[in-house]
Amino acid sequence: MKKVFLIALIIAIAAPAFGFKVFYYGGKIVKHGEEQIPWTMRFNNLGTPDCAKEFAALASSLNTWSNVTKQWYRNKRGVNTSTINYGYDGVNLCVWYEPGYSGQGGWPWAAGAIAVNIFWMTDAGTFYKVVENDVCFNGHNFTWSDKGEVYRMDVQNIATHEFGHNLVLADLYDAASRDFTMYGYASTGETKKRTLHQDDINGIRFLYPNDEITLESFTATAREGRVLVAWKVSREENHAGYNLYRLEDVGGGADYVKLNEALIVGRSPYEFEDGGVKAGTAYKYLLESVDLSGGKERFGPARVEVPTAQKRVFALAQSYPNPARTAATIKFALPEATTAELEVYDLSGRRVATLYSGAAEAGEREVVWNLAGDDGSAVAPGVYIYRLRTPGDVAARRLVVAR
Ligand SMILES: [Zn+2]
Repeated sequence: MKKVFLIALIIAIAAPAFGFKVFYYGGKIVKHGEEQIPWTMRFNNLGTPDCAKEFAALASSLNTWSNVTKQWYRNKRGVNTSTINYGYDGVNLCVWYEPGYSGQGGWPWAAGAIAVNIFWMTDAGTFYKVVENDVCFNGHNFTWSDKGEVYRMDVQNIATHEFGHNLVLADLYDAASRDFTMYGYASTGETKKRTLHQDDINGIRFLYPNDEITLESFTATAREGRVLVAWKVSREENHAGYNLYRLEDVGGGADYVKLNEALIVGRSPYEFEDGGVKAGTAYKYLLESVDLSGGKERFGPARVEVPTAQKRVFALAQSYPNPARTAATIKFALPEATTAELEVYDLSGRRVATLYSGAAEAGEREVVWNLAGDDGSAVAPGVYIYRLRTPGDVAARRLVVAR
């Protein structure tokens, strides 16, 4: 087993007393700013000729870190690029340096370096902010695999380590860290860096400390004149509870109004019913996660439109067609669940047919009369009256039967 260095161009000079190291430069910590999220990496089109699925392996490596960093802190894959050389050019590049690739001029670093993560940074006041990462894989001195083959470097194993540098963790070289993803040595056939050790995760939480929950969903849904706000979290740590805010339009301006009095606590999935909304109005909701030390992080907004309330009425419509030759369709509407009767009478007041009788839901419905009496025989041509009756209302209309 050959042991070789994975190097970053900036050397870690400070080590907190944890199983991770971060970078310092000029006495300031090096990391990303929140406004840079998601951090998008782009893979060179050529990949490596050594394996067929290197892009999938690289993408898996990005996801490994995305899954533990805070919701807004994501490594993300952008479209592939034709950029073939590292350089400060606005492209966060992943590229193999291979003997057959024109325009590269060989592997610029030590032969034993498996991969190199070069990053550029700028002074952001309280910290140095990374503004670009380029990751270069050594195809001159190593062959590559996406399957952990014994005599090759595993793409996902090495890339997961390199993407740890993206976020901006430093290498570890002490033997106690040998199972960590950020351990600075790697071997052919090795795959243990594909997954993260708890100390690798702790490093991310040290750099980006408001990572108290992993939010899986946050939705607002209109339901019968109210809004049901729901959210699911897969992880809560050092977590105190939630606040929920609704955006209110206030003539020319808008403000988020806090909906809960005490912190919302409980277990995922969470639900909050907001009855203070108006029909025909759109709203936005924000979820605020509060940690045990009072740190806050906001998610959203979730948007919802509360539909215009449908005014429910008691109504009996004119039948159609009218005159009717074979059948008549009669529509009616009830304002609430009740019992109802729909009957047909002749002009002498004799009941000819019962079209509906019994319990009825609120809302509209229609009944088709086949122009037969209750005895089953066709009614005579002429004028008829149909009447809808509930315990509280009655309505009647005429229809004509023609043969
Ligand atoms: Zn490294």
